[in-house]
Amino acid sequence: MRCSQCGCEDTKVIESRDAGEGQAIRRRRACPECGYRFTTYERLERPQLIVINKDGTRELFSRDKLLAGLYRACEKTPVTSLQLENIVADIEQNLYDCGEQEVSSAKIGEMVMERLSSLNEVAYVRFASVYRRFTDIAGFEHELSQIKKRKTAEPLKV
Ligand SMILES: [Zn+2]
Repeated sequence: MRCSQCGCEDTKVIESRDAGEGQAIRRRRACPECGYRFTTYERLERPQLIVINKDGTRELFSRDKLLAGLYRACEKTPVTSLQLENIVADIEQNLYDCGEQEVSSAKIGEMVMERLSSLNEVAYVRFASVYRRFTDIAGFEHELSQIKKRKTAEPLKV
């Protein structure tokens, strides 16, 4: 790392420590020529994740977009923004762990619904109705019966 003050190319690392909960390393550096000290951060470079939409178009995965969709589904419910942030972080981590470069929007939708269903019924149904675009009441009722089945099968985790 070149010294920004004198241009010396051989600056030394004098201290390294974890920053950002292990997601980054912070390094203090010093220039042996002029004594200038500065800080650099080293972060994991995540590959870009491509989302394939239902119509076959592709776009870059956006956590903001995902979060916005969740906020819409959870309006006027007791679900907190921290819970939503956690869902998005969890899904994001899962997607990167898969190691695939492309993921279908359907898969992301399923991951969201899986998590919403144990969090809030109203939010789940809202998200599912937008996401699955129920064309008739039968589809909607089927979805509701699925929730009820799941509820009797395993009690809600709070
Ligand atoms: Zn220097």
